[in-house]
Amino acid sequence: MRFSKYYVKTLKENPKEAEVVSHQLLLRAGMIKKMASGVYSYLPLGYKTLRKVENIVREEMDRAGAVELLMPVLQPAEIWQESGRWDVMGPEMMRLKDRHERDFVLGPTHEEAITDIVRSDIFSYKQLPINLYQIQTKFRDERRPRFGLMRGREFLMKDAYSFGVTREDLDKEFDNMQEAYSRVFKRCGLDFRIVDADSGAIGGSGSKEFHVMANSGEDELIFCDSCHYGANVEKAVNVITNLPKEELKEPVLVPTPNIAKIEDVVANLGVEIERTVKAIMYKDMVTDEPYMVLIRGDIEVNEVKVKNLIDTIDIAMLTDEELEALGLFKGFIGPYGMDLKAKGIKVIADPSVTEIPNHTAGGNKPDTHYLNVNYGRDYEADIVADVRKVKEGDTCSICGKPLRVARGIECGHIFKLGKKYSEPMKATVLDENGKDIVMEMGCYGIGVSRTMAAAIEQNNDENGIIWPSAIAPFVVDVIAANIKDEAQTNLAEEVYKNLLDSGIETIYDDRNERAGFKFKDADLIGFPFKVVCGKKSAEGIVELKIRRTGETIETAKADVVATVKELMKKY
Ligand code: ATP
Ligand code: MG
Repeated sequence: MRFSKYYVKTLKENPKEAEVVSHQLLLRAGMIKKMASGVYSYLPLGYKTLRKVENIVREEMDRAGAVELLMPVLQPAEIWQESGRWDVMGPEMMRLKDRHERDFVLGPTHEEAITDIVRSDIFSYKQLPINLYQIQTKFRDERRPRFGLMRGREFLMKDAYSFGVTREDLDKEFDNMQEAYSRVFKRCGLDFRIVDADSGAIGGSGSKEFHVMANSGEDELIFCDSCHYGANVEKAVNVITNLPKEELKEPVLVPTPNIAKIEDVVANLGVEIERTVKAIMYKDMVTDEPYMVLIRGDIEVNEVKVKNLIDTIDIAMLTDEELEALGLFKGFIGPYGMDLKAKGIKVIADPSVTEIPNHTAGGNKPDTHYLNVNYGRDYEADIVADVRKVKEGDTCSICGKPLRVARGIECGHIFKLGKKYSEPMKATVLDENGKDIVMEMGCYGIGVSRTMAAAIEQNNDENGIIWPSAIAPFVVDVIAANIKDEAQTNLAEEVYKNLLDSGIETIYDDRNERAGFKFKDADLIGFPFKVVCGKKSAEGIVELKIRRTGETIETAKADVVATVKELMKKY
């Protein structure tokens, strides 16, 4: 491709609306253009990278034995009503009516659509297992579309759905997909991690996420370097060390005027934070039922765990007015000294509180706390369950070593759905005894467009993007330092032709501009390699510059192709 004939419009300044680096650089490098909030055009350079990611995904899915198809974006409400998600999914679904006032949705995901197809075509266990996938535009009316391609309202996803007879079929395909995904992210040249994840609105019994590591990532991930445990913080577990047993003392109510925060309680009462219990009030957003969550003073509550525990769609902390209506005193709430059952409050205790002898807790009267409260003797919870948020330095539940926190961008997510959709949608097959059995499903998504943005978050510097070769729009940018110098332009043409002939995607910057200007664009767009034909052109020698390291290698024209091929393996 000749730059002069190509469609590129780079920007000098950072666009104001772009908060994260991938969004800034995608706009500045002229790879995408905004049409509406969370809706972008892929300009030619951006489209090239998108297609490269897409093709890697396709090749690895095919290699893993999955079969490609294409389903409609436009889906009738009926299938969503059948699965029960029409009412559950909420405003994220882009809904619309046709001219006959019939309800439709622009697919945010395709579990219903694929199940509808498979149930009418597949009757026998002999036709299973199968894994079907598509690469297609998805629509989600995100509450906060932001960060460019990272969280769009229209975005490209690869979604695969597996159907099997037994749980073993599902487990096997889940592992198969995990391997395929690992190959995808590895081939894209990205540093990624696989972690245990919460299943969210898609549901099912188990899931793993693939995260491209980047400090700007929205997700907090917990890792153990010793045993390779990894989990999204939403799902992460740790072990707590219990305090030694001691003689139980009688509870004492002590005045704590205006001392509501746990740090102030600790400082003023001279107690250790590990011997305090916090009470946090939530309500089930569906039933409005109030819950008191009890946790050790130095630990935070993991709201996703609480939500899953009470099996609801959402929870929220009680407002000051709601606390007052229940006769609770903000900052002085505790499990002891008040008949919580009579108020309809259910108590959830994290195991971190049940083994703290003589702990401090809110007094349930204004400006007071209780000392020497003991779980079991003074109060009991309706549910004791792990609702803690794991943090840096906590103890790994597998090997006992300290855990570490890092940030990542969720680019893939694989789920064991089981019968979540096949059961309500009656997707069954006959087994070898002629008995009807419900299919075991899995679903597997990769955010193709998000992966492109994540690659930039992970690979950039002050000058622009640093594409890994596998997903760069062009791998090599050929530049003649002085376009008035015929030896240089001749050599540039020759090298350009050789690179193209060898199948390396190359752009030749033949624009009538200064070399410095071209270098700036090349660095901003992030071509992995520049071949600069400069002063030694007459001798047939070029400068091969590596974007990632800044290194320059003087190379004879005859060696350019081989050298680039070698470098592409590394960068
Ligand atoms: P998130 O938690 O980030 O909202 P999700 O859990 O809703 O994602 P899935 O339903 O698992 O996402 O979708 C599969 C993949 O699609 C994700 O791993 C992600 O890479 C991508 N994806 C999801 N939502 C978006 C979006 N709004 N824009 C771009 N990519 C997205
Ligand atoms: Mg997800």
